[in-house]
Amino acid sequence: MQKEKILVVEDEEKIAGIVKSYLEREGFQVTVAPTGESALSRLQDGFDLIILDLMLPDIDGETICTSLREFSDIPIIMLTAKSSEDERVRGLGIGADDYVVKPFSAKELVARVKAHLRRTVSAKKKILSFNGGILTIDPLSRETRKHDNPVSLTSTEFKILLNLAEKPQMIFSRLQIITLVQGFDFEGYDRVVDAHIKNLRQKIEDKPRDPLFIKTVYGVGYKFIGIPDEESSQDKALL
Ligand code: CA
Repeated sequence: MQKEKILVVEDEEKIAGIVKSYLEREGFQVTVAPTGESALSRLQDGFDLIILDLMLPDIDGETICTSLREFSDIPIIMLTAKSSEDERVRGLGIGADDYVVKPFSAKELVARVKAHLRRTVSAKKKILSFNGGILTIDPLSRETRKHDNPVSLTSTEFKILLNLAEKPQMIFSRLQIITLVQGFDFEGYDRVVDAHIKNLRQKIEDKPRDPLFIKTVYGVGYKFIGIPDEESSQDKALL
């Protein structure tokens, strides 16, 4: 089996070395980039996951994360010494999948790396099916079906639906939704999100005013309330 490739963007040699050796011990192929520039120049190498230090000598980690998100949904785990709640939220808001605060345990970091890789691998392969097959979403072909009929969604609608449906019952704020699909926010994004949700409901709900799938959480945002079906034999054949 091919080794999964991880890019560690970290200027502190000692930390980079420890992370690298722990990950290599677990069978990953690890590349260390000590600067933001060297990280960006290596992105074509096809990594499976990026561990990204927030404080780098040239380009900061947030900028790298934001620019990466314009074209890639590779899992990103941010490393940082900052730990206030605001900064955590901000880190996730710019598109990082996870946040590890220094000092951290290398073992814990490895566990999170594995968890994120497992999730992306299974999410890529599995067709999501809800409410006894009423709604199905195929992340690979990007096909959505309602009562087995194809539903035509825009790219943004599909991204919103997939992100919500991958985490049933999780409440997403409008800010989270817009940063997930656009990688950034802008003035008036909340109304834009509402408009996308309205269009999505028209397409995937039988009764858009009494939704089975996307529920409004007043004052907060939205959550996906479809009931996941057991894995079908079709899914298993793909694994
Ligand atoms: Ca640093």
